[in-house]
Amino acid sequence: MPRSSPQPEAVPHHDVVIIGTGFAGLCMAIKLKEAGQNDFMLIERGGDVGGTWRDNQYPGAACDVPSHLYSFSFEPNTDWSRKYPTQPELFAYLRGVADKHGLRPNIRFNTHFEGAEFDSANQRWTVRTSGGVFTARVVVSGSGGLAEPKLPEIAGVETFRGDTFHSSRWNHDIDLAGKRVAVIGTGASAIQFVPEIAAKVGRLDVYQRTPNWIIPRPDRAYSGIEKTLFEKLPITRQIHRSVIYWGHEARVVGLVLNPAFMVLFQKIAERHIRKQVADPALRAKVTPDYTIGCKRILISNDWYPAISRDNVDVITDGIREIKAHSIVTADGTEREVDVLIFATGFYATENPIADVIRGADGQTLADVWAEGEEAFLGVQVKRFPNLFFIVGPNSGLGHSSMVFMIEAQVRYISEVLGLMRDREARSVDIRPEVQDQFNAGLQQRLGGSIWATGCQSWYQHRSGKITALWPGFTWEYWLKTRRINPNHYLTA
Ligand code: NAP
Repeated sequence: MPRSSPQPEAVPHHDVVIIGTGFAGLCMAIKLKEAGQNDFMLIERGGDVGGTWRDNQYPGAACDVPSHLYSFSFEPNTDWSRKYPTQPELFAYLRGVADKHGLRPNIRFNTHFEGAEFDSANQRWTVRTSGGVFTARVVVSGSGGLAEPKLPEIAGVETFRGDTFHSSRWNHDIDLAGKRVAVIGTGASAIQFVPEIAAKVGRLDVYQRTPNWIIPRPDRAYSGIEKTLFEKLPITRQIHRSVIYWGHEARVVGLVLNPAFMVLFQKIAERHIRKQVADPALRAKVTPDYTIGCKRILISNDWYPAISRDNVDVITDGIREIKAHSIVTADGTEREVDVLIFATGFYATENPIADVIRGADGQTLADVWAEGEEAFLGVQVKRFPNLFFIVGPNSGLGHSSMVFMIEAQVRYISEVLGLMRDREARSVDIRPEVQDQFNAGLQQRLGGSIWATGCQSWYQHRSGKITALWPGFTWEYWLKTRRINPNHYLTA
């Protein structure tokens, strides 16, 4: 049963509470404001807006989706310095958007979301935060799919006595110059910061569990002429954005419709290894044994040169144990370490937020998601009325811009809120059979995708079910979320 909640009049009430101020939370807030709905509060655990682009400040942090697509369609920036935006640029962009729309007064900074329970009697949510308890008619989670750092469960990890941090919590106070540094993980984050630190550290041991397919990064700076054109002739920027968009959409053909089409990408990636890695032993180590695309395809021009350096080793023997000042691998080799950096990713499929959100039946999201996360269109979960997700289950992408998906989801949520208004309803819930049917179709399509061809990735729940990705074109998602079907909803 739902926990007893505080008396309605005893706690402050907001019509809408939004968790997080990254792209998702900011977009929701902007669209609420545009609709004349000003009674909303954003809860932000950090001291500024920006979400992942505030947190991930590791050297070399950048996005692998081009700037002009990885930004709000309604907030174009003609001044992006490069094809691929760097973290400082994205962080500045999001701060600028929050300021322009006057959102800061609605944000409770340094406030941790601690949980929420649906109060069936009053048809609203009780939201617990480190800054107090609130009630809300509607809760929107924009807490991010890749927000909670995941540390590896390795024997002895807690006994390490040197400096240590996760890539998304980079400790800039630690001077790596001349140090013996170990990096665990070789994913999207590691391949960006390893080239930045390799030349300055004394020794660098990179512990690789699974190699990734990497293709060249076609980055370049935008010229002054291009920026002026984008500014003075907006159609040129729009065309540029469209060209990027459709170029990325084309990848879905290989990822979802027919994995055989990925052969071309694999050839490009194989040639990249041949061109950049001279040592045959290293080539063998970094060549994956699964089809390209099964795990996220990475882009980099400087990863292979960095790991080819004399002071860098790629270690593929599994880690047996971490000691106070060393790492011991399965073959018994012990390597001394001064600084240990975890580039081990995030809780992508088992977001800890699910443990502390309790719906109409008194169950937590973690309870109902024990076999893998499910939602309708990634946005709504049956028996969790008036709760919406942005970047929820099966709405992540392996090929294009999440900002596009976020905008589609926010528009969809706005439509559902409109339905509540039209029906003068206090609560809205997705019909169980609608969610179930939707997910059956989704999983059927995912079964034929490249992501189900046998590799282990963070796209999968531990049950093996792919719960992170949208299996299709983003325009299909756009079409599905463009208008709600009122018959899909139970209102009360
Ligand atoms: P990630 O891609 O999940 O990589 C984590 C790495 O840690 C993998 O190499 C993984 O190996 C390894 N690992 C995890 N647990 C381990 C253990 N117990 N022992 C040994 N190795 C272990 O994480 P990430 O690099 O932080 O990136 C996460 C996601 O964030 C990306 O895929 C992307 O969506 C996003 N991101 C994007 C960008 C960008 O746009 N350029 C940059 C950074 C991050 P296995 O492969 O064997 O699991």
